Amino acid sequence: MARSSTLNPPETHQLLRGEVLAARRVTPHMLRVTVGGGDLADGFVPRGADQWFRLFVPRPGQDALHLPSGVDLKGYARYLTMPESRRPLLRNYTVRATRPGEIDIDLVAHGALGPGTVSAAGWAARCEVGSPMALLDEGVTFAADGTQDWTLVVAEESGLPAALGVLAALPADARGVAFLEVPTAEDVQPVDAPAHVEVRWLHRDDPHAVPGALALRTVAAATLPPGRPYAFVVGEQALTQGVRRHLVAQGVAKSDIAFCGYWKHGARPAR
Ligand SMILES: Cc1cc2nc3c(=O)[nH]c(=O)nc-3n(C[C@H](O)[C@H](O)[C@H](O)COP(=O)(O)OP(=O)(O)OC[C@H]3O[C@@H](n4cnc5c(N)ncnc54)[C@H](O)[C@@H]3O)c2cc1C
Repeated sequence: MARSSTLNPPETHQLLRGEVLAARRVTPHMLRVTVGGGDLADGFVPRGADQWFRLFVPRPGQDALHLPSGVDLKGYARYLTMPESRRPLLRNYTVRATRPGEIDIDLVAHGALGPGTVSAAGWAARCEVGSPMALLDEGVTFAADGTQDWTLVVAEESGLPAALGVLAALPADARGVAFLEVPTAEDVQPVDAPAHVEVRWLHRDDPHAVPGALALRTVAAATLPPGRPYAFVVGEQALTQGVRRHLVAQGVAKSDIAFCGYWKHGARPAR
């Protein structure tokens, strides 16, 4: 996971096995995988806001999901030394929605998605009902304490599940503004946000533009509401670092900014 602000992990860490219940494309650039069953049926605790987790899925060609024995640092070290023929793919995702026994995960459909592609996006595009998976709940990072005057939410599409979860969790009398960048107008999703939180969708409409650059430019040029904000900024690393830098320069306290670089443009994929 890239650089981040406060973390609020769950009290117990447990790997929960489950399987794919359904998979579909919800917008041109977003794949939704619904998981459940197994340990997830009654072992998963929904926490709302930007609850995130580590997702374990088989790599292409693996006929089963082999999990590390343990989720502490030693377990992670054992995971890294598993032979690639057995080691599952491990990536970070956000809970998009929950229903009894079911969790929706929205994964950005980026890059190549065809057979043999070693990525979570490729897994989401190819997985079938019954495909095995597992997750490790990592809790919530959104931590506004209610003393701020308004809320700022900024994300590109990888942070859309977190941004929409945070907006849905705000109190009904919350005030604020959200800048949500997506590849095209067709990638806009329904929003559940308080009446006085203005949601501004930004469409890149350029397949070659770096995700997050438009949101950064827009926030930097915007006239933001007066008063003390709590900012939640997630997505591509240059976006999150750029918005944080801008807000700090405007006098916002670092402790009032929750930010997390979810991925880095141009970086080599984690193995
Ligand atoms: C706390 C947390 C929560 C997250 N929640 C979500 C979520 O709910 N939905 C979601 O889609 N992502 C989410 N992410 C981001 C996700 O973990 C990364 O995008 C991850 O790299 C995707 O894995 P992959 O295997 O598909 O691609 P990788 O194999 O990791 O990367 C392959 C290549 O694609 C590039 N890349 C990675 N992600 C993107 C992208 N979104 N757009 C364009 N290029 C990309 C990389 O730079 C790399 O060059 C979250 C990250 C964190 C830390």
